[in-house]
Amino acid sequence: MKLMQACLAAGVAILAAGCDLTGQAELQQWMNDTRQTMRPNVQPVPEPKEFTPQAYDSKAVVDPFDGQKIMMAVARQQQARASASSIKPDLDRRRETLEGFPLDQVRMVGMMWQSGTNVALLESNGSTHMVRVGNYVGQNFGLITRISTNGFLLTRDCAARLRRAGLNQCGIAIDDADPATHDRLRGLPGLFERATQGFCFLHEYGIESRLMTYACHGNMPQGMERILGLAGRLGVKSVHMNFPYASGLWAEEFDEVFSADDMGRLRKFQGFMKSPLVLLEFPTPEARCLVAKKNFVYINASGEVTPCPVVPYVIGSVRDEPLTSIWKRHANLLRMDYRGNCPMGEPAAREALRAHAAAVLSKIPPPGGVRADVKET
Ligand code: SF4
Repeated sequence: MKLMQACLAAGVAILAAGCDLTGQAELQQWMNDTRQTMRPNVQPVPEPKEFTPQAYDSKAVVDPFDGQKIMMAVARQQQARASASSIKPDLDRRRETLEGFPLDQVRMVGMMWQSGTNVALLESNGSTHMVRVGNYVGQNFGLITRISTNGFLLTRDCAARLRRAGLNQCGIAIDDADPATHDRLRGLPGLFERATQGFCFLHEYGIESRLMTYACHGNMPQGMERILGLAGRLGVKSVHMNFPYASGLWAEEFDEVFSADDMGRLRKFQGFMKSPLVLLEFPTPEARCLVAKKNFVYINASGEVTPCPVVPYVIGSVRDEPLTSIWKRHANLLRMDYRGNCPMGEPAAREALRAHAAAVLSKIPPPGGVRADVKET
């Protein structure tokens, strides 16, 4: 058995050895043939390009990496940020009682003169609170910037003191010739009677009076006619008729804004009444907005400057710099020419005013310096 196993192993080894030799020779032959026929494919190296030297002719232009310019830009940004932050609500302040109620649940019920300042009496949830300028009201950081008497405090004694102080003209706002409607709109019972009495006291002391009112879709033309009748009876010097501005309470109420047709009707009404009493901001479609005319700017109680009382976009603060420098930057950058109606009533013009205010803020000079590129006129 062992002999048979040894013979088989030898036979297999001879067979394997015979097979291996033949394959290797063939493989070697194939490799030799391939080497003979292979041609290397070498890409030619391109010729080097000829170098043409270029002259640097930008030495005269502004160096974007000038360290001083960067320092100035950073200082300007910091100042603009500081100025913008002054109009942010103060979140660290302790909240006041009336900030716990929505504004429409707070009602003004009276007003007093105390220690030389106006004090308003506001009622909410059955309690009455005394507030002054600087107090807060409502749930959205509503700061009281002005307590206006609406004619409420214009007593005979007050008119006498105003005259002694040199006042020669005074305006009182009346929303409607109907006493109940006026009191309802102003939220103060008895206000109409006090305000109309105020006109009489002004006249008694030789102070010219102006009745301030506004036309809107709800009161044209009958409401205006009634107001003119009232003005005639009171003997006022003039009636200043405003129209709805998309600002303040009407900030997004573009439906309330007067169209060109509405403005035309208001002008016709003025002509129809043939009253020299009535003054309009836009007596013709060509009359320019006073902001566009660069006639004035407005400073609110916090010292912020805006182009006009109805334009809420801040262009600077008199707490940070003199009004003259704010005015010069504003006047030099203002590029609008708006006529016939208020730009706040038109989204594109409003955006232009907002962009203008941002541009004016961005040009605030660095501390202690005046920008050389702002032409002083
Ligand atoms: S923005 Fe012009 S039109 Fe409008 S209220 Fe101001 S001054 Fe008048």
